[in-house]
Amino acid sequence: MGDGMKRKRVVLLGATGSIGCSTLEVARQLPERIELVGLAAHSNVGRLAEQARETGARHVAIADPAKEAELRSLLPADVTVHVGAEGLVELATLAEADVVLVAIVGTGGLHPALAAIEAGKDLAVASKEILVMAGEVVTAAAEKHGVSILPVDSEHNAIFQCLDGHRGGAKEVSRLILTASGGPFRQTPSAELASVSVEQALKHPTWDMGRKITIDSATLFNKGLEMVEARWLFGIGMDRIDVVVHPQSIIHSMVEFVDGSVLAQLSRTDMCFPIQYALTWPDRVQGGLKPLDFAGLAKLDFEAPRHDDFPALGLARRAGLAGGTLPAVFNAANEVAVDAFVERRIGFTDIWKVVGGTMDAHEVRDAGSLESVIAADHWARDEAAAACQRTGKS
Ligand code: NDP
Ligand code: MG
Repeated sequence: MGDGMKRKRVVLLGATGSIGCSTLEVARQLPERIELVGLAAHSNVGRLAEQARETGARHVAIADPAKEAELRSLLPADVTVHVGAEGLVELATLAEADVVLVAIVGTGGLHPALAAIEAGKDLAVASKEILVMAGEVVTAAAEKHGVSILPVDSEHNAIFQCLDGHRGGAKEVSRLILTASGGPFRQTPSAELASVSVEQALKHPTWDMGRKITIDSATLFNKGLEMVEARWLFGIGMDRIDVVVHPQSIIHSMVEFVDGSVLAQLSRTDMCFPIQYALTWPDRVQGGLKPLDFAGLAKLDFEAPRHDDFPALGLARRAGLAGGTLPAVFNAANEVAVDAFVERRIGFTDIWKVVGGTMDAHEVRDAGSLESVIAADHWARDEAAAACQRTGKS
């Protein structure tokens, strides 16, 4: 295969966010391998237009229809502007795209992701929420249409790397071990957790990320979502997915095999590493990323998660073991509770209470159809919103 054929034409949904900007950084270093052909955002037209000019992408989509005219005015005439939910689907199914990277926060990327799969595009997934909400639907569609799902989330990308070239399949894997930084409250006494502020929760010790995932990292819901995400990406039972706290975030995750050997993937804490691997896979190429300096690392620490003080992992395991629509409810209730916390309507520890209470109230259904997961998602959002309102008043 000539190198020209290895150039991937990429549509990037969520271009203006943290993952989106890192993807542009990776593409800048690898023009012979990555061509951005489409960029989408919600409403940040200034940054989107700037990105379109830099990359030369001929298609852009803006989810907020009110921003169409402003975006149009900022772009050269030969760039096609796609608008609204339909615009995202048009971008995800562009004839000239090979792979669609979904980096939209929350579940807003679900429909375009499914449309991309149906159009035969490989899917690079940063938006873990879509796999938690609709993992069964998404993985079944990918299988049906013969497309690859490439994990961008650093933990899953690490596991993907550890499993790459391993032909034994899931039966030779005894455990997936997700590493967690522990977040900003790893050592905060449990009695103080109820009163932590939004500002404190937004200060992540090792990663620089968008607002929602930063709060999720503080509650450990991020790791809970990732447990369910791993279950779908690697087809492994929830009982074989564990979490270990590793405050330096240098080991991004590990695979333990039945013979007792463990493989780990290490790099600096920079999302450009997993993004680059997902977009150059199955090859490894030299981009702009610096390797680790082991002499400067000092040490790598490990500790057990504080399950009792951070109930998110237990809730995730319960959701993943029960299956059906419970993971969708777990995810939707968390999105609602995170918004309520950021808007100072509920306290930090209320996030767990709202999610746990919503899960308790849910009657689990089969999650094999998109309709049933969407219904569960809507139900959970209403239920969680009511719970936030009750909590805020008490
Ligand atoms: P950000 O909040 O930084 O960015 C979100 C992006 O999504 C922005 O481009 C935003 O556009 C766009 N967006 C939001 N809502 C919509 C919508 N309805 N339709 C279209 N576009 C929309 O998020 P992150 O980059 O941090 O995270 C993105 C996803 O990646 C999340 O699911 C997160 O869990 C996951 N992830 C992130 C990591 C990180 O390091 N940041 C690591 C691993 C996973 P606009 O700017 O116009 O609002
Ligand atoms: Mg992660």
